[in-house]
Amino acid sequence: MESIWEQTSFGRNYDLAVVGAGITGLFTALHLRRKYPERSVLVLERGPHPSGASVKNAGFACFGSPSELLHDIDTEGEAAALHRVEERWRGLTELRETLGDAAIGFEAVGGYELFAKDSLLYTRVAKRFDALNAALHGIFKKNVFTWTDQRTPELGLHAGHLAWNPLEGAVDSGMLMRALLAKVQGEGADVRFNAPVGSWEDHGTGVAIQLASGATVKAARAVVATNGYTRDLIPATDILPGRGQVVLTSPIPGLQLKGTFHKDEGFYYFRHYQGRVLLGGGRHLDKPGETTTEEGTTPQIQNVLEELLRNTILPGREFSIEKRWSGIMGFRKHGGPPVVEHLTPNVVVAAGLGGIGVAIGIRVARQAAELVGN
Ligand SMILES: Cc1cc2nc3c(=O)[nH]c(=O)nc-3n(C[C@H](O)[C@H](O)[C@H](O)COP(=O)(O)OP(=O)(O)OC[C@H]3O[C@@H](n4cnc5c(N)ncnc54)[C@H](O)[C@@H]3O)c2cc1C
Repeated sequence: MESIWEQTSFGRNYDLAVVGAGITGLFTALHLRRKYPERSVLVLERGPHPSGASVKNAGFACFGSPSELLHDIDTEGEAAALHRVEERWRGLTELRETLGDAAIGFEAVGGYELFAKDSLLYTRVAKRFDALNAALHGIFKKNVFTWTDQRTPELGLHAGHLAWNPLEGAVDSGMLMRALLAKVQGEGADVRFNAPVGSWEDHGTGVAIQLASGATVKAARAVVATNGYTRDLIPATDILPGRGQVVLTSPIPGLQLKGTFHKDEGFYYFRHYQGRVLLGGGRHLDKPGETTTEEGTTPQIQNVLEELLRNTILPGREFSIEKRWSGIMGFRKHGGPPVVEHLTPNVVVAAGLGGIGVAIGIRVARQAAELVGN
């Protein structure tokens, strides 16, 4: 028996609904509130707080390491790969302007890519390094990457070669998501936690969203921003889940490492965090096993991460592992950019952000808001 107050202020009829309170879903809600201040907006999140990749990631404010960008150019074509870099760069700028560096814990520490001495990958990247910089001139108007092998000892690393990118940095993903949530709520969107969506149906005149609790929420239009979990709601999607495993060391006295680091086409990534090292990756070592929405870690990948810490990142240093966790990313089956498209006349999907979602989330959200609102 709903009261008049519940019905008018906490009702189940909205102009716009967003499923998923990750960086994509929350920015979609923010864009919608700003573009259509007269329309009501609701975000439905299954967890007790944002619970997907946006709060599990490594907090790299990055747009791609040299080997990863060259891989993307080779698989997607130069124009498509460069367009994505530009979107990520614009996204990073917008993200910092919208939420503010202090609120997201932004540190302008730069990005590096690490190569084993004279490895095949290094030789391949070194050959095309100048051409990659030249290709990026259209976006950055200057060389982005330089070799900085001489910095390896001062960072305490055991590596042959180091490429440097001064434009990247690190964020505190928890702070970022808290700041974003506060902004979204402050600008008038409702956010409901512990509200898993079980299914939805577009009736033509609106969308009925069935919650797992049995309740139904009605919205004129909806955006599905569930990234790695999209298959649960849209079985035919080409977005597959990809689990990423992470370890965090205990504090290391006199830690020299500072910055965000990539290795092997982005398959490994590590950074400093409050005197510790945060390291993730290794998904490619067991792709079938890591194509899952189950959280968890496996000895196979955890062992490789620890070996990387021992031999390359913290050679000769004592450390222990303080924390391990995993998060679920969403990848297009055949690679490529995120999907932002109509599923039905009133429902848009915005998902498949892959491994670099911090930068591009705000841009994907803008596209989704434009598409669903028109
Ligand atoms: C381990 C790891 C490290 C990463 N490191 C980086 C990095 O350093 N830099 C970078 O740029 N990117 C990184 N990424 C990728 C980045 O985190 C993602 O691309 C980005 O967070 C995706 O945001 P999203 O909002 O689309 O998805 P998510 O953050 O996953 O949000 C989806 C939301 O939908 C909710 N949801 C799912 N199903 C339902 C349902 N049925 N009903 C209601 N709610 C539902 C989920 O609980 C979740 O909160 C990393 C990812 C992982 C996993």
